[in-house]
Amino acid sequence: MQIDLHAHSTASDGTDTPAELVRRARAVRLDVLALTDHDTTGGWTEAVAALPAGLTLVRGAELSCVSEGDRPISLHLLAYLFDPADAAFVAERRRLREARWDRGRQIVARLVADGYPIDWDSVRELAGDAPVGRPHIGRALVSAGVVASVDEAFERLLHHDSPYYVAKQDTEVLGAIRLVRAAGGVPVFAHPLARRRGEVVSDEVIAQMAAAGLAGLEVDHPDHRGTDRAHLRGLAADLGLLVTGSSDYHGSNKAVDLGACRTDPEAYQRIVAEATRLPPVTG
Ligand code: AMP
Ligand code: FE
Ligand code: FE
Ligand code: ZN
Repeated sequence: MQIDLHAHSTASDGTDTPAELVRRARAVRLDVLALTDHDTTGGWTEAVAALPAGLTLVRGAELSCVSEGDRPISLHLLAYLFDPADAAFVAERRRLREARWDRGRQIVARLVADGYPIDWDSVRELAGDAPVGRPHIGRALVSAGVVASVDEAFERLLHHDSPYYVAKQDTEVLGAIRLVRAAGGVPVFAHPLARRRGEVVSDEVIAQMAAAGLAGLEVDHPDHRGTDRAHLRGLAADLGLLVTGSSDYHGSNKAVDLGACRTDPEAYQRIVAEATRLPPVTG
């Protein structure tokens, strides 16, 4: 079984529509794909409607979270198979999307103030109904001829140490884990040691997350080097967490192929077993 538990569509900052994404998943011979757009379930319906025969879809999302220690550290939480109508979780996803909107405008305003030839309207148009993210701003910078690629936009202007960077108002992570569990879902810490995105949390914070109800760690991820994967595997064993692997595919916004990292069937079965309200769907 080929299982990829983390991918983005145009419902957030990927470039494949949800229908294109599930078709591509089958074309690259995946058996299971999780759709995990940032802070939204907006792509679920289209993905289910377009599901090819033989592909199983895990409906999910990737939540923007913050760990409040001495200084705030941003991190991502994958949420699988939760009830999309759970009122508290619906409200929090909406709040996150609104926070992204305000923050996107602030980043664009800072770029405009320095003379970069983009504007908020074009970024908004590029995002469409999706929660606004830095990749949308990156694409506006590509369209304006400022940079040649979204990657270059991140390297030069959009990275977390840039003067143009503005943090989002994310969800406190222990609360987010409880929110996902209360909605019947299964929370997995996305790319815990993706260091190029900024500071990463300590093992102590991961232990606190486990105590709050975390189910697993995404260990095999394109942004993790070998030593970090080995460390996370040990930590998962110590804390009784399951281990996943996934590509974090974003289409042409990022140079990673669907299925680049994968999850063992036993870990996938544990996730399905822990979900209390929403099963996977098979085409
Ligand atoms: P945001 O959610 O607006 O903070 O933007 C973060 C998103 O930008 C991540 O989910 C990735 O999709 C993307 N990203 C981060 N770093 C890079 C990079 N160096 N090149 C392209 N995309 C990136
Ligand atoms: Fe993304
Ligand atoms: Fe992420
Ligand atoms: Zn992701």
